[in-house]
Amino acid sequence: MAKEKEHLNLAFIGHVDHGKSTLVGHLLLKAGAIAEQQLDEGEDKFRFVMDKLGEERERGVTIDLAHQKFSTNKYDYTVVDCPGHRDFVKNMITGASQADAAVLVVAANDGVMPQTKEHMFLSMTLGIKQLIIAINKMDMVDYSEDRYNEVKDEVSDLLRSIGRDPASTPFIPMSAFEGDNIKELSGNMSWYKGDALMTALDKLVPPEKPVDLPLRIPIQDVYSITGVGTVPVGRVETGIMKQGDNVIFEPAGVSGEVKSIEMHHETFPEAEPGDNIGFNVRGVGKNDIRRGDVAGHTADAPTVAKEFTAQVVVLQHPGVITVGYTPVFHCHTSQTACTFLDLTSKLDPATGQPEATKPDFIKTGDAAIVQIKPTKPMVMEEAANIPPMGRFAIRDMGQTVAAGLCLKVTD
Ligand code: GDP
Repeated sequence: MAKEKEHLNLAFIGHVDHGKSTLVGHLLLKAGAIAEQQLDEGEDKFRFVMDKLGEERERGVTIDLAHQKFSTNKYDYTVVDCPGHRDFVKNMITGASQADAAVLVVAANDGVMPQTKEHMFLSMTLGIKQLIIAINKMDMVDYSEDRYNEVKDEVSDLLRSIGRDPASTPFIPMSAFEGDNIKELSGNMSWYKGDALMTALDKLVPPEKPVDLPLRIPIQDVYSITGVGTVPVGRVETGIMKQGDNVIFEPAGVSGEVKSIEMHHETFPEAEPGDNIGFNVRGVGKNDIRRGDVAGHTADAPTVAKEFTAQVVVLQHPGVITVGYTPVFHCHTSQTACTFLDLTSKLDPATGQPEATKPDFIKTGDAAIVQIKPTKPMVMEEAANIPPMGRFAIRDMGQTVAAGLCLKVTD
């Protein structure tokens, strides 16, 4: 069997109508992941690829994320949802589709727009370290090098404002619609000497498995299996678990020795990040633990937060968020109602710098530092230390209203 290629999750972000869906559609075509016949006729033919995926998901045809796979010589890629699609942020934050890199699409005719800034800031909040900037719709500005440089300068200022280095960020002038600079360099912009998008994608660095972080396994389900006993199931997010290790489940507070580790009906002596496993722990019964608990080594147990400081971005809330608001926080596999105890400061959504202290409320588009109190014990850890345990989505009224990360566990 051929060696599996390394895999990257890609997000496409940027202002509405700047061409994210068109770019994804055309990229999938150029990479051979879809065929010409699968496209509709008409000027929006590429865009429909993403829309179709979206519709299928709305109908419940695909229970998975609206994602699409393609390959280059070097890597396999999964395109994770674009923002705007309903559960993008929730999925990204709760780990279902954590993006390893993002392509920020900026239309050359419009330049930087409000969502360009928001998404760039969000990419930082979500811990996406690698960005590629696609200056799109170059066909609409006569493939002008001057206009490209103007937009490039605007985006460079933004990058610097969030502490990213424009010099180490690839910029590509493109037309998603015409297909310029997607797979090979286009004759329409002979002044451009950089990489085509697919070449730039191959220069991304694949994610490293966080084997050196403390062991964390958020529990998805707990089964009782005849002959084995209680089998909690979950994906190893960080660290390594070996047979014989002593593990504790928090906030349940029960612990014991790992008797067996199983994956795809086979037993293994150890499990590493990314592995979806079932495991059996001596002395831990089915009713002792539940979904939302997190397993870790007893010597380095998951943190149960009674109160924490968080940075949040309000994505879509119909009203205002004030002190006392108690929506449901989705963090790893836990869903816990948490109360906003204090609105500490409001941040400039484009730069993350403080703008005002003690605001009376925050609303859609705002970023803020807030103090949060879970209504019952939950595992929440500082995102800087163990990223998957410190990122959360806030859901209310059936939608993701905000997203954020835990800066500090204060109690
Ligand atoms: P999204 O909202 O960012 O996903 O943007 P879409 O992909 O839906 O594109 C918005 C509109 O811009 C559609 O009508 C596209 O056909 C058009 N469009 C996208 N990319 C290009 C491009 O490179 N050149 C031109 N001329 N139009 C484009």
